[in-house]
Amino acid sequence: MSETIFSKIIRKELPATIVHEDELTLAFHDINPQAPVHILIIPKKPIPTLADVEEDDLHLVTHIHKVAQHLAKALGLEGWKMQVNVGAKGGQEVFHLHYHLLGW
Ligand code: 5GP
Repeated sequence: MSETIFSKIIRKELPATIVHEDELTLAFHDINPQAPVHILIIPKKPIPTLADVEEDDLHLVTHIHKVAQHLAKALGLEGWKMQVNVGAKGGQEVFHLHYHLLGW
């Protein structure tokens, strides 16, 4: 897949406000927040979209949900939702799988 801005954030070549990092994932504040808390949770593996997730990647998706639970608790969110845009027609602009964590 082609290089995206998120690959550069993973490699720390571009700045981001990182709120969580582990061997599988990175989470950082969205540059254009759509809620009081708007965090992007991404796998370090460069999977373009949710439609490209394969059987061997399912642990990454599970892990992203665990990171979301952890962040929601750590940030004291009272309500939150996750959104994944898939494909240009689904509103996806960056083709590196990411979950929007929107919180209140
Ligand atoms: P999509 O529309 O692909 O689902 O979401 C892409 C998200 O990435 C958008 O919410 C956008 O604001 C965010 N974004 C784009 N470029 C950057 C960047 O350089 N840094 C950060 N932190 N977020 C970005």
